[in-house]
Amino acid sequence: MEDRRPSLAPFECASGISWLSHYSAKGTNRCERRLASAHEDASESPPESVPCSGFVHSIETCGTVDGPGLRYVLFLSGCPLRCQYCHNPDAQGKPHGEIRTSESVIEDVVKYRNFIRRGGITISGGEPMMQNEFVHDVFRRAKAEGIHTTLDTSGFLGHRASDEMLESVDLVLLDIKSSDPQTYRETTGVSLQPTLDFARRLSDLGKSMWIRFVLVPGLTDDEANVRGVAKFVAGLTSVERVEVLPFHKLGESKYEQLGMRYQLSDTAAPSPEQMASCRQIFSEEGVTTR
Ligand code: SF4
Repeated sequence: MEDRRPSLAPFECASGISWLSHYSAKGTNRCERRLASAHEDASESPPESVPCSGFVHSIETCGTVDGPGLRYVLFLSGCPLRCQYCHNPDAQGKPHGEIRTSESVIEDVVKYRNFIRRGGITISGGEPMMQNEFVHDVFRRAKAEGIHTTLDTSGFLGHRASDEMLESVDLVLLDIKSSDPQTYRETTGVSLQPTLDFARRLSDLGKSMWIRFVLVPGLTDDEANVRGVAKFVAGLTSVERVEVLPFHKLGESKYEQLGMRYQLSDTAAPSPEQMASCRQIFSEEGVTTR
């Protein structure tokens, strides 16, 4: 039977703030220090906003595929999944790399305001919800600046997203990597159910979603698996777009550099016929794809 609780790596912590303190360079971060000082001096009002810190993998200032319009895309490091086709294997595992405050991220984002005014900011990864407090703080600040926000997630850690946090998210890009639990686990290394639970919760909240499904010949292309994703998506009420993406090998060289095994070296990208057949299955379930 499919296990319903996410199986997490040992560094899981319920609070992004305390969790980050374990990994900050000097054992403390601005977020923690501000919180501590606010608690120590009860005579002072707590600061209006508390800047949080997060581990950033990379930044793309003019992204065009991760949400509507031109977007500032913040890729965070850290991911509990091990997708066979991941093109950022260096982002997997514990969050690591450059530490940025949410304050500094937004200061940078607003410099691009003219370019992204029909777009916004997207936080991707890795799995952004490994750093949920940081994501929330960046999005809260972005909304205060009138900037559109998009969360790009596998949904595996969706239970970490509070309703309050989701209020600061305009759009969720949700990857549903398979519908068959065994195939999902083979593809990602983790269980499927948390992603389905998160999708239903987003639907119940009326939160806008773009669903993404990656077609990998020999891995995710079984008709029953594809049809299962299509049927599931057809039952959601707030899906604005469904994207069927062809598997590609852009990240393969990184595996070699990292000394990791790339399991899909012998897998070819899907042919136009295979893509068309996959889209046809979605269509038969009443789901239009792009
Ligand atoms: S969820 Fe994304 S970052 Fe994580 S392993 Fe899968 S493809 Fe890579």
